[in-house]
Amino acid sequence: RNENTTDASLRSRAEKVLPGGVYGHMNMKKLPSGYPQFMETGDGARITDVDGNEYIDFMCGWGPIVLGRQFEKVDESARAVFAKGDIFNGPGVEMVELAELMCETIPHADWALFGKNGTDATTACVTTARAATGRNTILIAVDAYHGAIPWCTPRLSGVTPEDRAHQVRFVFNDVESLKAAVAEAGDDFAAIIIAPVHQPLGLTQEYATAEFAQAARQLCDDNGALLILDEVRVGFRIDLKGSWDQFGVQPDLAAWSKAIANGYPLSAVTGTERLRESATSIYVTGSFWYSASSMAAAIATITQLRDTDALEQMRRVGTLLCAGLSAQAAKHGIDAQVSGPVQMPLLLFGGPGGVKLGELFAQFCIDNGVYLHPTHNWFVSAAHSESDIEKSLTVTDAAFASLNAAIERQDAMAAV
Ligand code: PMP
Repeated sequence: RNENTTDASLRSRAEKVLPGGVYGHMNMKKLPSGYPQFMETGDGARITDVDGNEYIDFMCGWGPIVLGRQFEKVDESARAVFAKGDIFNGPGVEMVELAELMCETIPHADWALFGKNGTDATTACVTTARAATGRNTILIAVDAYHGAIPWCTPRLSGVTPEDRAHQVRFVFNDVESLKAAVAEAGDDFAAIIIAPVHQPLGLTQEYATAEFAQAARQLCDDNGALLILDEVRVGFRIDLKGSWDQFGVQPDLAAWSKAIANGYPLSAVTGTERLRESATSIYVTGSFWYSASSMAAAIATITQLRDTDALEQMRRVGTLLCAGLSAQAAKHGIDAQVSGPVQMPLLLFGGPGGVKLGELFAQFCIDNGVYLHPTHNWFVSAAHSESDIEKSLTVTDAAFASLNAAIERQDAMAAV
């Protein structure tokens, strides 16, 4: 990467005033050097970095962008609110309208409450479940991500053992392991929190099986505990009725965020009637939680997802992308697998050199205008067209070919 870029200069300024340069999941230091740290514009399925390089974007802001950037109906709804002012001493009509819309759309939802981040929502679910059951222990899948505060952060720096008390782990999609966790929790079993799809960083993505989803529901019912579905990442991309509706499973509580407002900051908890009182009893709030602009954006986003073929478009282009990648891996004789729902796939390379190959592949793609990620699942949006996928597959085909060239070079080096 050229050092005379705006990105390089911003990185060195950031180093002085931001912890770690940039912190959290958007710190690009662990990614191949071609990844820009700072971005400037986005339109539809394209994004442009601060140096004017354009990319077909398969990260969608790590999930929030579901209809595409600068989606007029959504932006117009938010702008209409801004034009009247936003953040008053009480919410606007949008809060009631959005809660009504969610209750109409999501089968288990009898009420909704809103926050800003996914972590707000997962935490409110856990707190509500503890308030409702009078029990403490929460069952959590190994390697699951539910947010970035002490009870759930994957990094233990600054976290006390007490922050992690009352938690039992189980293996995703393993009914026996879940049963063992239920037994371990005993009469303190308050809830299971689980994402509909297991998407651990750098590992194969796994959709829950019907058997596992149904077992989770049953174990909660048999033991007076609650099922919390963490829909933060998957919600509004696969099924508006909830990602486990296809298995006939509805949760007691669900956490939503990311795609709910096509990029405007918002999260939500939905719950059933019997949890209304407990949700009322807990104290959850925030200075920015009542902002009407994000709620207006969410109404426009959910309505668009409900009334158009946006979900089908994501499924269509996601299927094309995944099928194309699998066929290319086979054609080039490279051990690489696509996993996860087609709307949010991940390509991983097998074998001992797999991580390195993944990095080389990602580097080639980013250098050639395709923004994907070597270890985190990707996201497609309804703005991705068949032609975007075709163009991207031309790049990935060349990326696979370049890997073979690199492997041959390495073999040749080893033979010397
Ligand atoms: N749960 C899941 C499944 C997530 O993917 C995320 C975010 N990646 C969160 C919770 C936390 O959401 P946020 O980053 O908005 O707090």
